[in-house]
Amino acid sequence: MDIQLSADDLAFQEEVKAFLAENAYPAGEDYNKWRLDWFDKAGEKGGWDIPKWPIEFGGPGWSPTQHYIWEKETAVAATPWDMPFGLSMLAPILMGYGNEQQQQRFLPDIRARKVNWCQGYSEPGAGSDLASLKTKAELSEDGTYYTVNGTKIWTTMAHIADWIFCLTRTDDSGIKQQGITFLLFPMKQDGIEVKPIITLGGTHSVNMVHINDIKVPVENRIGEEDKGWTYAKGLLQHERTGLAGISRSLVALENLKAQASTVTRGNGTLMDDPAFRGKLAELEVDLLAVEFTELRSLASASTGSEPGPESSILKLKGTEIQQRIQKLTVEAGGIYSAAWGAKPVGHSFARGGMGGYLSSRSYTIYGGASEVQKDVIAKNVLGIKRSSK
Ligand SMILES: Cc1cc2nc3c(=O)[nH]c(=O)nc-3n(C[C@H](O)[C@H](O)[C@H](O)COP(=O)(O)OP(=O)(O)OC[C@H]3O[C@@H](n4cnc5c(N)ncnc54)[C@H](O)[C@@H]3O)c2cc1C
Repeated sequence: MDIQLSADDLAFQEEVKAFLAENAYPAGEDYNKWRLDWFDKAGEKGGWDIPKWPIEFGGPGWSPTQHYIWEKETAVAATPWDMPFGLSMLAPILMGYGNEQQQQRFLPDIRARKVNWCQGYSEPGAGSDLASLKTKAELSEDGTYYTVNGTKIWTTMAHIADWIFCLTRTDDSGIKQQGITFLLFPMKQDGIEVKPIITLGGTHSVNMVHINDIKVPVENRIGEEDKGWTYAKGLLQHERTGLAGISRSLVALENLKAQASTVTRGNGTLMDDPAFRGKLAELEVDLLAVEFTELRSLASASTGSEPGPESSILKLKGTEIQQRIQKLTVEAGGIYSAAWGAKPVGHSFARGGMGGYLSSRSYTIYGGASEVQKDVIAKNVLGIKRSSK
């Protein structure tokens, strides 16, 4: 594909840069108010608040190159944080499989960042083998609501979420991919108990969610009963594409180079050390290769195609690269990285390095573990058949 920037693309890039500069966070201002205003202003530009949504749902209808420019410029600028669950994961499912009433009910609040969503897929005993999930949903005799019971685990941000999109078991008589139903329900209700799980990096983002006898009206079901696996699979591909984080890695790599040039090594800096430079160079080459894979994926998305199994390549390589950057950051910080969590000593970047490194261990687990991505690539990209032995 052609990624030479045309005069129009360059003009667009300038417009994006100007918007980001004009709307940078003014230190001291109420962050949340600024954040919501930022999305409003991006919306006024014509769907810049929802760049990946299709035009018919208010998106900007950008070309792949425009998406590429946006990703790069927003990674450099400190744009407000955004949660992917409603915006990038549930929204495409609502657009593809939800009915008009559900689209009108949920999409505007997702766009306005008014409602936080979480993803209720994994269960104790159903992670990589997600289709083994057991959370039970029983339809009432009059067919108006489901009674849901079960436990979800690793549910990111469940403690601040208003709603959950949840995979439930409605039939266990056939193969396990059948009999799964996709339900939406509020988190703040009796019968939902959220227990925190503190991860290796010392932070609280994931939770265990117990669901006891809650009632979910049938109008909160996406698509047909027992067909939820089809919708869930589509969502995983959107999730995987989003997790690669290529633009952020490009920025992180530049930051790492700047940080390494502040570390004294012999008569020079760490950036003069051939061994360190070799690792950086290897990383940079790999990152460039993944960047081009992402561009190909953007090009196919611009023709209306859904992300396919190639999103597994992006997830696999993108998350490995993020981990390698974190590992090299700890290496650059040297002994000062060990003072993580304590009073800062040594290089200022070293303090955050270890926390980032420990958190990054999970990148190759969530959204489907690396081994599972390799299975998908072998089967669906390379066409390798399983041995019958
Ligand atoms: C930080 C974090 C946030 C998460 N957020 C969410 C969330 O918001 N919502 C949600 O639903 N889930 C979430 N998850 C769950 C995540 O999707 C699962 O952890 C992941 O799918 C792996 O499942 P598991 O933990 O049960 O491990 P298992 O599936 O038990 O895997 C254990 C090990 O076995 C390997 N393995 C499994 N199957 C195969 C195979 N076929 N071939 C080779 N090796 C295999 C795996 O690669 C792994 O190394 C999150 C997880 C983490 C760590």
